[in-house]
Amino acid sequence: MKKITVILFTLLFLALLAACGGAVEEKSAAPPADSNSVTADAASDEQTAVATEMDDSAAAAETAPDSAADVSFAGAEMEPEDCFPGELYDPEERVCYIECDTEEECLAKEEEIYGDLDEYLDPEFGGDTVQPPDFADGPAGEEDGEPIPIARYNVDNGLEIVLLEKNEEVTDPDFADPSRHEEIWDAIRYLLPNDVLQEDVGRFYVFTDGPDNGLAYVKPLPDNPEEWQFGVDIVDAGYTQDFVHTLVHEFGHVVTLEKNQVPPDTSRPSPPSEDEEPEPSPVERSCQTFYTGEGCANLDSYINQFYQQFWSDIYEEFMAGSNATESQEEYDQFTAEFYDQYQDRFVSEYAATNPGEDIADTFAHFVLKEKPDGDTIAAQKVLFFYQFEPLVKMRTHMRGQLARLNNN
Ligand SMILES: [Zn+2]
Repeated sequence: MKKITVILFTLLFLALLAACGGAVEEKSAAPPADSNSVTADAASDEQTAVATEMDDSAAAAETAPDSAADVSFAGAEMEPEDCFPGELYDPEERVCYIECDTEEECLAKEEEIYGDLDEYLDPEFGGDTVQPPDFADGPAGEEDGEPIPIARYNVDNGLEIVLLEKNEEVTDPDFADPSRHEEIWDAIRYLLPNDVLQEDVGRFYVFTDGPDNGLAYVKPLPDNPEEWQFGVDIVDAGYTQDFVHTLVHEFGHVVTLEKNQVPPDTSRPSPPSEDEEPEPSPVERSCQTFYTGEGCANLDSYINQFYQQFWSDIYEEFMAGSNATESQEEYDQFTAEFYDQYQDRFVSEYAATNPGEDIADTFAHFVLKEKPDGDTIAAQKVLFFYQFEPLVKMRTHMRGQLARLNNN
């Protein structure tokens, strides 16, 4: 039955896919026009960190499930019997957790209880960007390869989703069924730390652009940039390697760009047209730290520290090179060469796209891999996260959830 569903998806999107392959590429990582908008440019036309990740490593998942439809989702909330021996249960938050004091003790316990989870890291993660579909723009999906919006939900304080809008033109129950949307949202709630979702995620968006193109994105709400929307392609949703990697990567964007890290820049003018870059905003012009596209990063924010430590010596070179490109092709070639030149600095080629993608994908490596020993700059970037206790706690939580998943 599940295989049949996969075949149906494939047939349904055959035509869309044919057109989509190139379209997604075109939309990715437009050449940045000025030194401060690189993160946002690579993320979206609107200078927000839209980050829809693509995966081009079909062969990479040896042990992780390789088909989204083969895996059903676990419920978002845990019972005491879900906890592993060695874990404790918090009845208020309804989560299992490890009690420990020092980092050394925590990591040792975590490794002992959860074991090896490397199968969820996508070593070939080929993140890419697409513009999320917008109901407000009228019936989307009319252009070839354009993502089709399916439903948009409000996320309430208890992390329940409430339907705001659905695409009446989408009637296929595989896409339109609200219980499937609930399942996907539950998968997000299951894996990602709920306190962060509660604090920062205000909308949940279900869309599709067919299998294997855009998988998920996060983006500040246009009318309230302190809150984020989390979009997932319904066709790609399942506990696969690329799904898990992408969710953790997107979560890395939220954690490093949310309002307490990067106050949203409300002084930013809208671009005169989709193809033109807007003028730098007053906030951007006066920013003394790293300007992410969303705003001017706080001095002690993760992304500013990450930038100062790992990018400040090569950023000028990076911007000069990317500004000199005149087409998407040239830009892609430049970023590939930049990666080749500084390979030992990056956990993936996609991470070399800009500091925002770098910190998000390094975060995914931090969560999904064993602690490295630190003999490359890329490894030092992963170690960067270990100095922050809240991030280590998030890592442990996500690893616990993945281990639970493997155990079921
Ligand atoms: Zn990203």
